[in-house]
Amino acid sequence: MLKRTKIIATLGPKSESAEVISKLILAGTNLFRFNLKHNDLIWHELIIGRVRAESAKLKTPAPVIMDLQGPELRLDIQDGTYFDVKEGDLIKISAEFINSPKSFRIIQKQVAQELVKGDSAFIDDGNLELKVVSKKDGVVTVQALQDGVIKNRKSVNLPGKNIDLPLLTQRDHDAIDLAAKISADFVALSFVRTADDVNHLRKELDRRGASSKIISKIENATALKNLESIVQASDAIMVARGDLGIEVPLKELAIWQKRMIDMCRQHNKPVIVATQMLMSMVDRGRPTRAEATDVANAVFDGTDVLMLSDETAVGVNPVRVVKTMAEIASYAENLGELRHVNMIMSNLSDVLIDSVAKIISTSQNWPISAGIVFTKSGHSAKVLSTYRLPVPIIAVSDVPETLALLSLSYGVVPYLSKLTTGTFKLDGNVFEKLVAGNLIESGSQAVIIHGSNWLTSGSTRSISIKQF
Ligand code: PGA
Ligand code: MN
Repeated sequence: MLKRTKIIATLGPKSESAEVISKLILAGTNLFRFNLKHNDLIWHELIIGRVRAESAKLKTPAPVIMDLQGPELRLDIQDGTYFDVKEGDLIKISAEFINSPKSFRIIQKQVAQELVKGDSAFIDDGNLELKVVSKKDGVVTVQALQDGVIKNRKSVNLPGKNIDLPLLTQRDHDAIDLAAKISADFVALSFVRTADDVNHLRKELDRRGASSKIISKIENATALKNLESIVQASDAIMVARGDLGIEVPLKELAIWQKRMIDMCRQHNKPVIVATQMLMSMVDRGRPTRAEATDVANAVFDGTDVLMLSDETAVGVNPVRVVKTMAEIASYAENLGELRHVNMIMSNLSDVLIDSVAKIISTSQNWPISAGIVFTKSGHSAKVLSTYRLPVPIIAVSDVPETLALLSLSYGVVPYLSKLTTGTFKLDGNVFEKLVAGNLIESGSQAVIIHGSNWLTSGSTRSISIKQF
């Protein structure tokens, strides 16, 4: 049976070739992520073109996500190299370079201003913790809590500090220009803090005539505080465990993952669980037992999407990683262990979809092999997806942006079809096409949600059961 959990693969040097991209799609990748922290825009544009060509050849949709860098802090070392530190070493941080062998610069002035005695600064994805011991004349002295190495351009996280940085860097603005030029399906917003941040990005996209959907990456405590309004303002949410695992205490990560997934489902927004899911496969053929369990547990938690980062970008065998993830996910999703959420039904159409979910989930005696939804905005397909049903939901639409958005939704199979105007008919030829395209098995039954007209949006009032 078709895998219902979606997979995002990040592309990089180990997966940029047409051959690997094509294999990744066949192995179960549903979307590709371009991490704008790495490579130049020319590379991204080139490889996005390649993804689209391979996706067209395989007649399998593969929307692209341009992941903006956002307001990140990075350190600079004066000679551009690195230095070793031993536990207890004192290191100096300032906005300008100073003449001291163990020192680095963080160019954003606010950092040296905001840091006070007792604060922590985490270097390189949290691998090294530095504690502030004193501050004088704009120079902050920190002490290393472990042995380690500090390399030029590594990331800096300051948990709990609200450094007021501009949401979008110049590089991000250039990336948004590119997103508009190539009609990127999604733009991901790093370090979102408020719903206003999301609205701001939406305006930047609108201004350029881009209809890219927005994925908000939840990766710090401020975003968690404003979670519900961010979820409402966004098209999708990413549980960005990499930075979140530094910005909030690690012990809280698992429960935040569950809470975020629950909240997204209640708002019918797709949710992505990201980072280090199969990390050890960057240099090995098999994941650790903990990683295999993590992937299954994310499915049990009810996620729509699982994401791969370094595993597919720089790992030894990107295709094997996707296959491994797809196998674990398809097995887990069929165990009947998926977390339940109470649905919020706010209108008649939601109640109608609730009945369809009941028809499907209690259908042992009247087997139903799929749900079919005709949709303009994607709303009814997203609501039905939220029930995490054991059968695929075929979303038929003539709006490409809607289908791209739905490729993030659990169990939804986007199907592009030019719909004729006029009265909906159960023997319309779109149904023959679904059988011919192997989306529905001939002889099986499906539940169809539709309006009285093929094209009316928001008029979904009917449920039909069709024998194919
Ligand atoms: P990143 O985001 O890989 O762009 O940092 C994901 C995360 O932080 O988990
Ligand atoms: Mn991040």
